[in-house]
Amino acid sequence: MSSGVLVIFDQNQGQVRHVVLEILTVARNLALGSVTALTFGTDASKTLNMLGEYGADQVLFWEQDPFTRYSSDGFADAIASVVPELDPAVILFPASAWGKDLSPRLAELLNAGLATDCLSLRTNEENRVIATRPMYAGKVLAEVQIDTPIQMFSIRPNINAAVPSPTTPVVLDIAPVISEDSFKAVVTERREVQSGVQELTEADIIVSGGRGIKAAENFKLLDQLAEVLGAAVGSSRPVADDGWVPHSYHIGQTGKVVSPTVYFAIGISGAIQHLAGISGSKYIVAINNDPEAPIFKVANYGIVGDLFQVVPRLTEEIRSLKA
Ligand code: FAD
Repeated sequence: MSSGVLVIFDQNQGQVRHVVLEILTVARNLALGSVTALTFGTDASKTLNMLGEYGADQVLFWEQDPFTRYSSDGFADAIASVVPELDPAVILFPASAWGKDLSPRLAELLNAGLATDCLSLRTNEENRVIATRPMYAGKVLAEVQIDTPIQMFSIRPNINAAVPSPTTPVVLDIAPVISEDSFKAVVTERREVQSGVQELTEADIIVSGGRGIKAAENFKLLDQLAEVLGAAVGSSRPVADDGWVPHSYHIGQTGKVVSPTVYFAIGISGAIQHLAGISGSKYIVAINNDPEAPIFKVANYGIVGDLFQVVPRLTEEIRSLKA
């Protein structure tokens, strides 16, 4: 019978994202048997110690060509070829752009059910996984159970704690079947897009601006606040549509879904489509000159005022506190 949890993720030159450590903790807490980590690309094996510290019992590193360049179909086919040997009951992915691209393809090949963007996982008395995930743009939280033999889930960053649970992982040498034909579309170049100091989906603090900012050049006020807070900078959709900021900043139903500890909504009205992307935030701080703005209905803290006065003062206050 299938057992254990397979955690699949990307890494960048030996650096794993924090969400991977969170997912390893989730995998251990399910207590469904061994936890196996599978990762790809140049210097993947540099992550060995880190993966062991967070409880991976077994690891697979596919570091050679063709795994140095991402290909949705190629990676999905290769992973599917080793799943019968690994025989996991559960497969977990980060709910990152990468995970969102690869996990449905693998699910289709394995004929497995997939629940995306889950907040938490637990097991029931039959050792099946129950996932909690947002639905209807974050209006409700649903509990989801998957009835296929392999249960697949992607996990939203910044929701679960990463708790060390040191092991000495065994490095597995299982070679996938590689079909040249399946590596049709291959990523040939990666360019890092600057979005504040860090990737929005993993940021702990986000300073986000909307149309109330009035002009592209005024975003420097948010950059300054973000700098003193060590935060990433995001935006509502119209601001990105108007080209004030790159589209990588856009948060919401049609943009990025974020889950920071603190989300500053500055000059953002709080439309339902924007709220869909920020409902996972622990604290929302709204700065808006309209006391009736819908954002105040979801904000934990609200400042009614002109952002052009409030934001520079807030930045100065925080800077002086840190001095
Ligand atoms: P506005 O609604 O214009 O709000 C600006 C706010 O700034 C107002 O509340 C105003 O009181 C305040 N303000 C103005 N001047 C100041 C000042 N000096 N000081 C302080 N406050 C000030 N939107 C998203 O954000 N993300 C999405 O993913 C998204 N997806 C969409 C998908 C669909 C299918 C559709 C139809 C819409 C989508 N939208 C999305 C658009 C969404 O409906 C709203 O139009 C948008 O979120 C509004 O952006 P905003 O809050 O920046 O602008």
